[in-house]
Order: sequence, then C-alpha cells, then structure tokens
Amino acid sequence: MANYSSNPEMSAVRKDTRLLKTRLNFTLQRESSGSKARAATFQTLHGEVKTPIFMPVGTQATVKAQTVESLKMTGTRVLLANTYHLLLRPGPEVFKRFGGIHRFMNWDGPVLTDSGGFQIFSLPHSRAMTEDGARFQSYVDGKAYLLSPESSIAMQQAIGSDIMMVLDQCIPSTALYAQAEAAMELTHRWAERSLRARGNSPQALFGIVQGACHHELRKKSAAFLSELPFDGLAIGGLAVGETHNERYEMTGLVTEHLPTTLPRYLMGVGTPIDLLESVHRGIDIFDCIIPSRLARQGVAFTSQGKLQLRRSVYKFAEDPVDARCDCQTCQHYSRAYLHHLVKADEFLGWYLLGMHNRTFYHGLMREMRDSILRGDFLSYYEKKRSELVRTDEKNPSCPPKKAQTVQPTRLGDYEIHRSAQGFSSIRQMSSGEVMHSVNAPSEEANKLYVEQSYLASRLVKQPAPADALVIWDVGLGAAFNAMAVIHSFERCYAERGKDVLRPLQLVSFECDLDALTLAAKNPSCFPHLRHRAPVKILADGKWARASRLLQWELLKGDFRDCLDSAPVPDLIFYDLFSAKTDAALWTAELFVHIFQHCAPKSAELYTYSASTAVRVALLTAGFFVAEGVGTGPKSATNVAFTRATGVAEHPLSPRLLGQQWLTRWRRSHMQFPSTLSNEERSHVEQLIETHPQFVRES
Ligand SMILES: [Zn+2]
Repeated sequence: MANYSSNPEMSAVRKDTRLLKTRLNFTLQRESSGSKARAATFQTLHGEVKTPIFMPVGTQATVKAQTVESLKMTGTRVLLANTYHLLLRPGPEVFKRFGGIHRFMNWDGPVLTDSGGFQIFSLPHSRAMTEDGARFQSYVDGKAYLLSPESSIAMQQAIGSDIMMVLDQCIPSTALYAQAEAAMELTHRWAERSLRARGNSPQALFGIVQGACHHELRKKSAAFLSELPFDGLAIGGLAVGETHNERYEMTGLVTEHLPTTLPRYLMGVGTPIDLLESVHRGIDIFDCIIPSRLARQGVAFTSQGKLQLRRSVYKFAEDPVDARCDCQTCQHYSRAYLHHLVKADEFLGWYLLGMHNRTFYHGLMREMRDSILRGDFLSYYEKKRSELVRTDEKNPSCPPKKAQTVQPTRLGDYEIHRSAQGFSSIRQMSSGEVMHSVNAPSEEANKLYVEQSYLASRLVKQPAPADALVIWDVGLGAAFNAMAVIHSFERCYAERGKDVLRPLQLVSFECDLDALTLAAKNPSCFPHLRHRAPVKILADGKWARASRLLQWELLKGDFRDCLDSAPVPDLIFYDLFSAKTDAALWTAELFVHIFQHCAPKSAELYTYSASTAVRVALLTAGFFVAEGVGTGPKSATNVAFTRATGVAEHPLSPRLLGQQWLTRWRRSHMQFPSTLSNEERSHVEQLIETHPQFVRES
C-alpha cells in the first residue's frame, strides 16, 4: 500500500496548504481554569461562528419539519448536511446549477458537510470496501457508486459547504484492536488523499481522529492528523456502542493530544448532558439528530428536565412546555395542546417541539459560552450536571401515595447499608458482610464485569452469530451485575439495531431472593432496579425482551447444586460472598466442577477477589489465571480462562500471573488453606509448579 506521508507530492501539498491555513482564522478567546472548556470564534465563507456551538442535522438539505425561518428564529447558526444523501438525490448536477446548497435551500449561514462515510458504513450488506473507497448501490435508483476520498471531496465542493469532512472508515467503537488499527490507518491514508483533492479550494477541511476505544490508537491518530494542514479536527467513531464513561474518557484523551489552535468537532454526539461533559473536555462543535428525533417522539428538553408529552398527566395541562423558555412554542401553546398533537401524530407537533428543543440546545450552548467567557465555567458545570439529567419531578411517573408508606429497610437476613460516599448496598446481617462495601455497586459491575469482558463488542457482530452468548451471573444479590449486563445489551440494541446483535442468555444463581426483594422495594436507593426485568425475575424466575434476543433466567438454590443444569457459559461473573463468609464457594473442588462443566467451550471467569487462596484454587482447578483490573482500594482482581487461547485472543491481553507471583507464593505463609493435609498440600504444590501457565514461561 502506498505510504502517502513519504510521497514528495504530499509534502508539496503540506507546504502549499500551510500558506492557506488561515481559512477559518480560528481565534481562542478564553480557556477555563479547572476545565478544558474554551470559547473561540472562526470565520467561514458565510460569516463568523462562535463556539461552543451545536449544529442541527439537515440530512436532505432540510432540518426535518423545519423552515429556514424557524431555524433562524431559534438561533441556529451552522447546519450540517449529509453528502451521501445529497449525492444520491438530488445529485451534484443540481447543486452545480444552483451554485451550491446555500442558494438551493435559501440558507445564507455556514454549512458543514460530512463525507458520506458514516452512512456507507451503516449499510453493511450493500457495499464493498477497498483501498480506493467504498462501492455501493443507490437506494434511490439502484445505480452503482464509488465513494472515494476524491469523489467525496468533489461532491462536497459541488454542494459548496463551508466546512468539508474527510472520508473515514467508521467501525463500532467497541471494535477490537486489530480491526480498529486497520481502520485508523486507512482513514489516515484517505485523509492525505482528501487534502490533495481539496487543493486550493477556499472550503475548509477537517480530519477525523479514529481508533475506537483504544487509547494508543486514539493518541496515534490525533498526533498523525495534527501534523497535516487541516483547518480543524474531528473525533469520529463515538456514540456507536460504548458506554457514556468510555465516551467521555476517549473524548478527554483525544483533546489532550489535539492542537489548541484548531477547532475540535465531536461527531454525532449527543444529549444535553453529553454536550456539557464534552465542552468540559475541550470540544467546540457538535451535531446530533436527538433534538429533532425526540421532538417527533413527543419529548421536550426543559429547564425542569425531560418531558414525555405523550403522558396523560399533560392532558389538561395549561402551562407551556417550559415557563422559562422564550421560543415561539412556549409563548403560544400549552402542554395540553402539544400532548394532543403528539398523540394524534400531527406534523405541527413535530414542528413546534423541534423548534423548542433546538432553542433549548442553542440556549445551553450559549450559556456554556457565556460562562467560559465570564470565567466561571467550572461552577456552572457542577451545577448543570445534576440539572440536565432530571425528569419531570412535578409529574412523576408514579404519583406519590397520599400517606407515604415507609419501606422496610430489613428483610430476612439482609438490611440496606448506606455508604459514606452516598450509595446504597445490601448487608448480610448474620455475617456482617456488605455486598460491594467500598465502590458504588453499579460502577463496579460495569468496570469489573461488563467493560473488562468487552461485553458490548461480543454482542455486536456482523453478521450477528445465531448462537447465544451465555453469561453466568453467580450470586444475583441485588442484581447489580445482571442489570449492568441488561443495560449494556439495551444500549447496543438502541444504538446498533437488532440485525447485528448476538442473542444473549443470562443465567443468575441465587439461593436467597430476600436481598433482591428488599432492594426492589426501595427503588430510590437502588435505581438500577427501575426496570421490568427484576420484577419479572422475582415473580416468575425468568424474563425475556420482546424480541427474545435477550433472555434472563434465575436458577434458585445452592450454586453447587444448580450449575450442572445451566447452559455452558462463555462468561462467568463470579460475585459471591467472600470466602470468610462462605468458604465452600471458593474451593478448588468447586472450581474443578465449573471447569469441567465449561469444557465444550472456551470460557472466562471474572471475579472481584484477588486473594492468594482464590488464585491457588483456580490454578489447581486448571484455569489460566490473569490479573484483572483494579477497583477501589484493590489494585487487581482475577480473570480466569479455561483455555490458553482465550487469554491470547482477549482484547485486553491480560497479564497472566508469572514467575514473580510464583516466587512470592512459594514464600507465602498463606500458601495453602489451613484445612489441607500434608499429602494434599504436596499435591497442590505439584499442580501449581507444573501448571502450563508457569512451565511455558520458564
Ligand atoms: Zn420553548
């Protein structure tokens, strides 16, 4: 493959375009202290833009259901248009006839065009990818097209946008390292071709940082693109499968490695809270279809939180959508009228709520900009974070009962434990042991089990495998881990659709359902249980999503007795009470039983415990044992594999315990459980010393 960086022609482009680099004349006005938020201005061919800014999405040279006048009225300054859709219809000839999109749609403000890449890569079955570009068939008339870096630029030039984007290869943000690296490298080669194709055009051009959720790749991509003469840089490939925390982490990481002298654009993100979190991490430009799409569904963003106007609580509501909003909708119409329009599926409802939501988005961006310029963004951010995630508190989903019943805080052997850090968990009274005593349980469930096992990328596959991914949730407890799995699945479903989803079969083991019952009665302490699934599990012992792609089943009884009747797992989340409370659940004997049950497959076991005794038991049972991620005060946990190939193929390449650990173990006074006879001790010693994990290494 050609290396365009070392191409002499490319160096010429670099030099030439350096001279024209003032295309946007980006000027930083103020940077926040204690936050990476910044306010800036830049100049386009259609006037000045002040950042941070939000761009509504005008896919077909129109923001759905809006007029140019209604856009201007709500404060829209820049529009995003989709090259892919406009290429197919009306086609470049029409834009050439009109001299570009501005005259064609009667919009005199700046326009940014995407490259068409995102749409092409969302059509897995009708395209063919090569170094050259992507070949695909038009959904309009069946005609064959090649979308290459050059043809994308040519189309964006015909459209006459103020800012063009390079063609990039979009992959799920949960893609494994090798796939993400290949896509990134192709994106880099295409970035250089795009710059050459742009030539001396006065239109600005942005490069796109790729690399999925891999730190090294993101850094490499940011560094590479920063060296090229782009007028701005974008972060692509987020909001497609990762968790919110992963998205924020990646955004913060990339902006660390981008020059401060160029505008930064986070593509396709997001909700109001996403905008706040991303401005805080140094982003200047956003686009998203959410304000428009949710308007169609009857959702309004307000200063009091998000409202779902379909709800019957608004049937007689005479007040405006948001009393603090000065948009035309809130000036003239009641919630009751909008409730009616939405229920009747009337176009006017979409138009009016679209106007209101856009006003909310632009207002939020303006507030952020003002607070950056004033120098108090950080305190604004802290305050706004909690405000933006509220729902309609005055009209809650379950109206408060007149005589508030006090919920029990104890049931059977369990009671609710409130930590000093403000989260709730469950304590077993007889042992005194708190499930998740140090870390917020939902966070720990995500970090230790969902993210560490790369669950999202196992679920999203093209084509979707027919066999189900089987997960054992050993120790249901208050269902923190099970719900983290279900939420991850539902995120993938919402963001990627059911066609690429692998079926998921979740099996929970629990002998005493009192912990879950108690937690479910106190949803304000355990908000993760506000879902139909735990209600059904408690009532029927099983639950399935309507599509049956996700099935959850409870095996009630002692884990040791139930495990043989469970389907063979791919992943085991082993989260039982500690060995101090119930030693029988951590013995080598039980791990052997699990190991043998898993034999038909390559299985992985994740657990919070990193004690020497547990490691010895797992190794003795035949598992390959690696250090898992740390959580809270623990610097490491355990991941165990039934086969060495499982370790090799794991995206995190976890570190197997090695000679160092073995040396420490030989010296340890905790070498063996105290209950073992001398004969048993020498047997364990022999198993460990000859374990392939250690033998291979030496
Ligand atoms: Zn309004």
